[in-house]
Amino acid sequence: MTTADHPQAQVHELRRQLQSLLDAAHANERKLDRFDALERRLIAVSSMEELVNLLLVECRDDFALDAAELWLLDPEEELRRALPSLPMVRSPKLLDNHAPLKDLFGAARVTRLIGPGPEEHLLAQAFGEQAGVRSAAMLPLIRQGLLIGSLHFGSRDPERYDAASGTKFLDRLAAIAAIAIESMLNRERLRRAGMTDGLTGVHNRRYFDHRSLIEFSQAVRHCYPLACLFLDIDHFKAVNDRHGHPAGDEVLRQVGGLIQRSLRTGDLAARYGGEEFVVLLPRTDLPGAREVAERIRLMVQDAPFVTPEGGTIAATLSVGLAMLPAAATSFAELLSSADRALYEAKGAGRNRTVAAGGEGVSAATAAAS
Ligand code: GH3
Ligand code: MG
Ligand code: MG
Repeated sequence: MTTADHPQAQVHELRRQLQSLLDAAHANERKLDRFDALERRLIAVSSMEELVNLLLVECRDDFALDAAELWLLDPEEELRRALPSLPMVRSPKLLDNHAPLKDLFGAARVTRLIGPGPEEHLLAQAFGEQAGVRSAAMLPLIRQGLLIGSLHFGSRDPERYDAASGTKFLDRLAAIAAIAIESMLNRERLRRAGMTDGLTGVHNRRYFDHRSLIEFSQAVRHCYPLACLFLDIDHFKAVNDRHGHPAGDEVLRQVGGLIQRSLRTGDLAARYGGEEFVVLLPRTDLPGAREVAERIRLMVQDAPFVTPEGGTIAATLSVGLAMLPAAATSFAELLSSADRALYEAKGAGRNRTVAAGGEGVSAATAAAS
């Protein structure tokens, strides 16, 4: 006698099938709830670090993943410059071109579920060899028809992501994640535009005025030295007159870059006015500050500044240096001490560093003009 012939066995079999359908429906409902909760949080994030944390750290826990990766296309190096200043637990991988995204998605640009098989090599590409990922979901992030990155969820379980499964939930998540990323990038661009000098890319005066007061009060409270450098390009009017304003702009841009590159994280550089820059060096004593000032001065002196026409121009700058606590009891006083020292450096022949408060003209005088 078969099961079908036995009414009790039939009922038992039907119950079993019903239970398994109910289990599947409940599992789907829980999955939908998890996706729904994540999507709501994605829409509500208010900062780039919160967004990245949500996609790379919290997602991993909530979805019991073994690995999560975010790739973002960053050809202009916008994010490369912005991310170090953000307190991130994990960072996205920044791509300077489309090639890695093309390798993953080809022309189709749809969510891919990859497990053991001929495409397994893509797992190591997406997560690195160490992660031990055996199956993964790769979500293309598309905005306005452009692939802007990809989000990867990986598992050590080779059967977790199976090419035959549906991708509806993941597709929706990818679409929402892409919108959240784009809007966060726009917000970050605006935030940076508000505190960055458009020509040189260093901070602007507005940002400096705000940050300098914080730096000053922290240095006073924690009793550490704070060095202030005032830098002014020498005879810059003559550079403009001789080579034209666009060439002058190019010199300014390159000097800004040189200053920025010669500082450590935590130091602050800003364009203070026309051809004047200001630098704050927290926890730096006089010899240390003099060394930084001289390094910048010599880099400018030795740099061939390339003009828009492809020619080169030589330029120099003078530096005034003042120290907290030696030269000031308020930030305004520190700044004006540095400014007076700069004035002295100009008077003494330019292309030199002068420290305020009788600290003397730097050894650079010998190299000057
Ligand atoms: P000194 O050595 O005494 O500092 O002489 P200087 O010629 O550098 O100083 P001055 O203050 O006489 O001239 C500053 C010049 O900087 C004049 C101004 O046209 C130029 N300048 C200010 N901002 C910009 C800018 O954004 N682009 C260009 N190309 N020039 C600028
Ligand atoms: Mg000036
Ligand atoms: Mg000048």
